[in-house]
Amino acid sequence: MEEKQPITEDGWQKKLSEEEFRVLRLKGTERPNSGKYNIYDQKGSYYCAGCGEKLFDSNSKFESGCGWPSFSERISSDSIEYIEDKSLGMIRTEVVCTQCKGHLGHVFNDGPPPNGIRYCINSVSLRFESE
Ligand code: FE
Repeated sequence: MEEKQPITEDGWQKKLSEEEFRVLRLKGTERPNSGKYNIYDQKGSYYCAGCGEKLFDSNSKFESGCGWPSFSERISSDSIEYIEDKSLGMIRTEVVCTQCKGHLGHVFNDGPPPNGIRYCINSVSLRFESE
């Protein structure tokens, strides 16, 4: 397998679209209800738009009404990391891609049973592939 070189922020700026760079590398947020996967129920897998790491399965996607794609489960605890985020006067838990550290969104405790978890993810940070 080919060894992956870490990508510099300059490199990311060349590789990603302006909006992808703003969200993934600068921890931005897409406008609510604007993302292409917000209302989307195809069967397949969601990959990191930065590095291609597999992050979510469509089976865990649900309609939360929050304006961003929502998932009740990550594909594995190895693929997504949690970071405490104290920005905007709130304490939230940011989620990033373990592989490239790209910003994905946040995780909240108001998801559906049995886990009660909601991953609130920017569409821009994801790439979908059908089964
Ligand atoms: Fe990634």
